[in-house]
Amino acid sequence: MTFERLQLIPPILKALAKENYTQPTPIQEQAIPPALAGRDLFGCAQTGTGKTAAFLLPIIQRLSTQQGSPNGKRVIRSLILTPTRELAIQISDNFKAYGCFSNLRSAVIVGGVSQQAQEQALERGIDILIATPGRLIDLMNQGIADLSHVQIFVLDEADRMLDMGFIHDMRRIIAKLPAKRQTLFFSATMPPEITSLVDSLLMNPMRIEVTPVSSTAERIKQTLYYVDKPNKLPLLIDLLQDKSIVSALVFTRTKHGADRLVRGLTKAKITAQAIHGDKSQNARQAALNNFKSGATRLLVATDIAARGIDIDELSHVINYNLPNISETYVHRIGRTGRAGLSGIAISFCEHEEIPYLKDIEKLIKQKIPVIRDHPYPMTISAETAAAPPTPSEASVRGASPKEGGGRRRRRRS
Ligand code: AMP
Repeated sequence: MTFERLQLIPPILKALAKENYTQPTPIQEQAIPPALAGRDLFGCAQTGTGKTAAFLLPIIQRLSTQQGSPNGKRVIRSLILTPTRELAIQISDNFKAYGCFSNLRSAVIVGGVSQQAQEQALERGIDILIATPGRLIDLMNQGIADLSHVQIFVLDEADRMLDMGFIHDMRRIIAKLPAKRQTLFFSATMPPEITSLVDSLLMNPMRIEVTPVSSTAERIKQTLYYVDKPNKLPLLIDLLQDKSIVSALVFTRTKHGADRLVRGLTKAKITAQAIHGDKSQNARQAALNNFKSGATRLLVATDIAARGIDIDELSHVINYNLPNISETYVHRIGRTGRAGLSGIAISFCEHEEIPYLKDIEKLIKQKIPVIRDHPYPMTISAETAAAPPTPSEASVRGASPKEGGGRRRRRRS
């Protein structure tokens, strides 16, 4: 399959060639033709599958082949709603790449930065708006963002949007969209809330499913270290003696945990920076740029902050903490296996995280191979530790994380 066969227009084909994309990914192959034909779409796909191009290319094609508005001023003809700032910026970067030979204009509306430049962009007129819900609602309430001309609406990472407590914001935004529109809906998982949202939002959608969440794990080499909490840092430092770990994305459960880890690594002369919701947008972008350029070896992230980060060719993911939601484990390690690459995922499991491990192994339908021969073995033997959790251990599962990890906590973008 080639992009030409998907009937894409020359300016898009030229841009894809410039990106060195030789063939569409499965989701692109399946999503682009119906999306070009104007159909609603329900894509069950996660980051790393090429889903961004799957919705951006049809948008670029459909909008750039339309007549401009008669009085010349651009109106928002496509809205892409996404849960995090990083994801919004990544989508915008992708649009700049894929749309570089079109004459469409886009803007990003996210929180955490001054509103003024965003207002000016809207005032000048744009075709495509990429936004997180909180700031968009603010601008709608101020009468600055007008969604009444939207023809194509994309809801990206809808499951994460629900997890982050954006359901009411989403509904308020959707209420302002024209009823007659095309909706492209993407979600990595399909909890019941998503199914009912799909039913209420989409008209006879084309359903596309790629890389189900449980199969992602098969491509990635996974290992597990049982280790006591205080020994996690020394163990990590020890593992990082291995120079083949050129760079790694390290996940912690909490923002404070991320900062603490960065301090510990810095003391050990390992370059690391943290990226999480308490950092300013500029600080996050700087950390990401340093990581991408190789100036820092480790990027330490919380799940929410990491969600939208686009890093090509990531070889290692390290779970410094195991996540309490098993799907999150799959999302995390899936960061290494992008665009067909294989990757390595290293996980640390302290005693209290054993119930999480059990849930993860149930989801991925495999046992993560355990490395027993390391300098910081768990003081309780790994066998005892690996035994099914007692009722009191199991209660850890329901405990709410102390900092930053609440599942249904509401966040403004
Ligand atoms: P996404 O799932 O949209 O986040 O895309 C994952 C990564 O794959 C991004 O770094 C894209 O630049 C890249 N990508 C998307 N489509 C293709 C393609 N057809 N060929 C090669 N790389 C691609």
